[in-house]
Parts: sequence; structure tokens; C-alpha cells
Amino acid sequence: MTGRVAGKAALISGAATGIGQSIAMRLAAEGAAVAVADIDALRGGEVVAEIKAAGGEATFMALDVTNEDAWRGAVGAVESAFGHLDILVNNAGIAIIESVDKMSLEDWRAVMAVNIDGVFLGTKHAVPAMRRAGGGSIINISSILGLTGEEKLSAYSASKGAVRLFSKAVALECGRDGSGIRVNSVHPGYIHTAMMEDTCRRDYGDIPTGLAALGKLHPIGRVGEPEEIAAGVLYLASDESKFVTGSELAIDGGYSAA
Ligand code: NAD
Repeated sequence: MTGRVAGKAALISGAATGIGQSIAMRLAAEGAAVAVADIDALRGGEVVAEIKAAGGEATFMALDVTNEDAWRGAVGAVESAFGHLDILVNNAGIAIIESVDKMSLEDWRAVMAVNIDGVFLGTKHAVPAMRRAGGGSIINISSILGLTGEEKLSAYSASKGAVRLFSKAVALECGRDGSGIRVNSVHPGYIHTAMMEDTCRRDYGDIPTGLAALGKLHPIGRVGEPEEIAAGVLYLASDESKFVTGSELAIDGGYSAA
């Protein structure tokens, strides 16, 4: 298959729906063999079927990003299935909306476990595999809330800020060790997915009202679509970005420019 990432193998966490699904489908359409990794086997299987129906190569992998053994297994399974791992997209993420004085330690830790422990574990186990492959690209999905804070999202903002600087620190390690591994973070604005529909219903009563209100936060005047994040991830995954590491790519309709 030809394409901008032809011949590469990619693992995408949280790929059963939303932004991760779009990333998996775009990378597969551009020639990558894709591991759709998620805790949701039903929807993950549907994504794999859709990719295959379009002529792409994909397999589902059960992965809870908070579980180190599961990461060992997933990275090993990608190497067995595809021969090598070239692209890791740490996309799985959750948000718990609560004021800091009401947030339980359990909820705080749940957000940190998925959003930053998961990124650490994925990176830790992908780096040796990418060394074996002679290089690779790690793309960590942070948020505009990794660049600026938001009320009632203290745990989420803290976790996404951590993803930003974790990515830069590992980019330095992997840049200087000659491994050919690049690490970058992506910072989406509000994107129309299930996660955002939850926010719309809870904060604005219904989805259309929420979409309109959240859209106004972005200078471009609307929320984003998952495909618009996938386009940036494709660039960072491909060799077109071979001089890009340690960078932060805001795809946010200008939200963070203010
Ligand atoms: P989503 O809720 O639509 O999908 C998240 C996916 O992650 C689901 O398939 C879910 O099953 C999976 N997942 C959750 N916990 C997991 C775990 N422990 N292990 C493996 N998979 C797990 O979310 P989305 O809106 O597509 O967001 C994707 C990423 O983009 C997240 O990191 C999110 O923080 C980030 N982001 C989203 C927005 C937005 O507005 N939607 C904005 C900025 C950043």
C-alpha cells in the first residue's frame, strides 16, 4: 500500500472511538499497519472491521493503559503481528469535572492513572521496540488544557500539563541517544467526540447549545472535528516531520493564541 506512512506499524491507545478512532483510520488509509488498542473490545473491533473494509491493515489489542503488563503484551504483540513498531500514539484519556475542594483523591488518581501514567508506560515500553526498529515517532495527545488551566478541571489540566513536559524530556533523551526516536505533543481544542458531548449535556443542557457555546471559545468560531487532529498526528507520524521533536502542536482554532 502506498501513502505517507506506508510500511510503518502504529499502535494507538484509546482508538475505539473519538479522536483515536480517526487517527487509526487516517494512518491506515495512508498505508500504516495499525493496532487499535482500547479497553472497549466491541467498538475497537468495529474500527478494525471498518479499516479492513477500506483495504487497510489493522488488528485489535485489548489494552488498559494503566496496566504495565498490558503494555508489555501490546508492544510485543505489535512486533509479532507487524514485525516492528514505528509509531505510538498515546491518545487514551479521561476527564473528571469537579471543583478542587470536592474532588476525591480516588478521582484525582484515576485521571492521573490514565492520562499521565498511561503515557509514561506506553513510552517506556515503546522506546526499546523503536530502538529495535531503528527509530520511531511517539505522539502524545495532551490538550489546550495542557497549555492553560480550566476551572473544575484541575486534575485533567495537571495531567495534560504533565504530558507536555514529559514529552519534551523524553524527546531530549531520545534525540541525544541517537536512537532516531522523536517525541511530540498535540494540543487539541474542544473536539466533537463523546467526551465533549458529555460536557455539552452537563454544562449546557444539550449538545447543540453546548457546541455553539464551546465553539465561541475558539477564534475560528467553532469546535474541531476528530479528523482535524488526525491530520496533525499523520504529519508527526510521517517522515515529513523528521526534524521535529520536543515540539507542541496546538490544533485548536486559535484557542491558545489568546
Ligand atoms: P473519548 O472519550 O471519545 O474516547 C476515549 C477512548 O479512550 C475510548 O475509546 C475509551 O474506551 C478509551 N479509554 C479510556 N480509558 C482507557 C484506558 N484506561 N485504557 C485504554 N483505553 C481507554 O475521548 P476523545 O474526546 O476522543 O479524547 C481522546 C484524547 O484527546 C484524550 O486524551 C483527551 O483527553 C484528548 N482531548 C480531547 C478533547 C476533546 O474535546 N474531545 C480536547 C483535547 C484533548
